[in-house]
Amino acid sequence: MEYHVDLAALHHWFLENRRSFPWRENPTPYRVWISEVMLQQTRASVVIPYFERWMRLFPDPVTLAKASLEEVIKAWEGLGYYSRARRLHEGAKQIVQQFGGKIPAKKELLGKIKGLGPYTIHAILSFAFHEKAAAVDGNTSRVVARHFLVEDDLTRQTAKKKIQLLADQMLDTKKPWVTAEALIELGATICQPKPLCDLCPLSSSCQALKERRVEEFPVKSKSTPLTVLTRSVAVIEEGDNLLLRKGLPGKVMADLYEFPYFEGLVKPLPRYLLEAWELETSFIRSLPVVKHSFTRYQAHLFPIHLRAVHRKVIPDYEWVHRDQLKELPFSSGHRQVLSYFLTRSDPQMVLFS
Ligand code: SF4
Repeated sequence: MEYHVDLAALHHWFLENRRSFPWRENPTPYRVWISEVMLQQTRASVVIPYFERWMRLFPDPVTLAKASLEEVIKAWEGLGYYSRARRLHEGAKQIVQQFGGKIPAKKELLGKIKGLGPYTIHAILSFAFHEKAAAVDGNTSRVVARHFLVEDDLTRQTAKKKIQLLADQMLDTKKPWVTAEALIELGATICQPKPLCDLCPLSSSCQALKERRVEEFPVKSKSTPLTVLTRSVAVIEEGDNLLLRKGLPGKVMADLYEFPYFEGLVKPLPRYLLEAWELETSFIRSLPVVKHSFTRYQAHLFPIHLRAVHRKVIPDYEWVHRDQLKELPFSSGHRQVLSYFLTRSDPQMVLFS
């Protein structure tokens, strides 16, 4: 497939319109790595404070490798998909052990580092080392699919390979890293799901626009809808302590703290706790409902604040003093529950700054 691509217009547009982000100012391999993994989680504007805090806490692979897993998880708290934080930690240790603390500049070596997928490898090679490698994320895929009329289902591997090949072919021979980043930026700001073709620097060569078929691309099969989970959450207080459980290794919420919860709407919760755990509690109040999504689920949490009559040992759970709460990483839904609990029981306490 041979199409003209107006690279000069694309580069000019990018240099005039690129958004300023902290990771773009000084794109070292480490900063590119961390920012790209964070950007896989959420929007750039949300990532900025996380990225800046991360760089203050762990400014290089050596510091990250030396940190405890709990510190790393805590710094990631709120971004979701905690396995990515664990892989960053493992990857940093590997960089220290195998590459003397420096991220290598070769694709084959980068591929050996845990948690580095093709996209992140290409991003590091392109933005940090200025190699000829297109970093193809969802934004670039959308631009390429529209520009070249890629009719294949983009959820399939063959289509992904085709998009990668086309994106690589688009790269400028002199400044390939500018094209690579410009395509991502174009997808994020102009060639959005609802595209702004009138403002697009590629409008003269875009095949979808030419054929008036922009809405047909990119082609994607429908993703599985979210499964809704209803959970009763018991925020059980005893003196200055709360009952919590740390997620087990290998589970979705591994290393994150959560309150006891039970599937469905359990009513009344004190009677259930008495029967299940022989734990005597009294009802204090209901807290606001919290909704949070993880993997392919959306959990609706119904938290109830209870007071335990006596402290009792509950297998797999621990009583945690209020003073320690700020240091612990929570899953995002339970962090919100904790925040409601604390602000209502002690409005002066600021849990997350
Ligand atoms: S012309 Fe429209 S559809 Fe084509 S690349 Fe630009 S914004 Fe996307």
